[in-house]
Amino acid sequence: MSGDVADGRHPSGVDIDRPSAARVYDALLGGSANFAADRALARQMLTAEPHAGRWAQANRAFLRRAVDFLLDEGVRQFVDLGSGLPTVGNVHEIVHAADPDGRVVYVDIDPVAVAHGQSLLAGDDRAAMVQADIRDVNAILADPATQDLIDPDQPVGVLAVAVLHFVADDPARILAGFRSVAAPGSHLVVSHLTTPDEMSAATVGVVAQYNTRTGTPLTFRSRAQVADLFAGWRLLEPGVVPVDAWWPEPGDLEAPGAHPRVPIWAGVGRLPY
Ligand code: SAM
Repeated sequence: MSGDVADGRHPSGVDIDRPSAARVYDALLGGSANFAADRALARQMLTAEPHAGRWAQANRAFLRRAVDFLLDEGVRQFVDLGSGLPTVGNVHEIVHAADPDGRVVYVDIDPVAVAHGQSLLAGDDRAAMVQADIRDVNAILADPATQDLIDPDQPVGVLAVAVLHFVADDPARILAGFRSVAAPGSHLVVSHLTTPDEMSAATVGVVAQYNTRTGTPLTFRSRAQVADLFAGWRLLEPGVVPVDAWWPEPGDLEAPGAHPRVPIWAGVGRLPY
């Protein structure tokens, strides 16, 4: 399975008439791994809130900067929770550009994302795609791909980028599960949708549309609640900030007031040596 899924090929059992979180996000990013229902919802969202695509891109740019930062810190193995569909600037591409021996385990619940990931990574013995619910930490840790690729004695980058807002109950438990087995020097990367009082009315409407249509409701968390997700990790500078303000590179940060603020918080934490 590869390329555009608009030709109708998809893993059996997938309801292509129901938009999915992974594929709508792919459509917002301009990807081709989505179906008509996903594209229709993405179009409706962009009509109601034209900035939604820019926010997806800002989130993706944060992921790239954070992975580069972790590589600079010496992290060479990554677990990407809720990785989504393979898209431009995949984590393993960033990692392998810096170190061909770096290792990446992608985890997603969406069968289309997993099928695409497995196809993309076929023959790559330094990256793998696991189908799992991130709430099942033990299953992810016990998966043969994780066992093969992740050395528990070396620092790991745990990436939870734009995924914990899909977890209504106790995301801290998930993160504690990974923290409890992470070596000193490991890092946690989080981005997370903010609360409705921090969003424009248009964005609140778009989120409501998304909740109803995908069946995977979003849970809002405030900046303080996102900061709490770093319990047990040392939150690094600049703390929890809007996703485009986390160590922006030229072009990443828009002029203040130019657009509504990106309604996504972001931060990185480290387990001290
Ligand atoms: N992390 C990528 C990024 O930031 O570019 C993709 C984010 S996308 C908005 C969210 C992804 O999380 C989707 O691919 C969705 O399938 C996945 N997801 C949502 N809930 C999940 C769960 N409980 N377990 C695993 N993956 C989940």
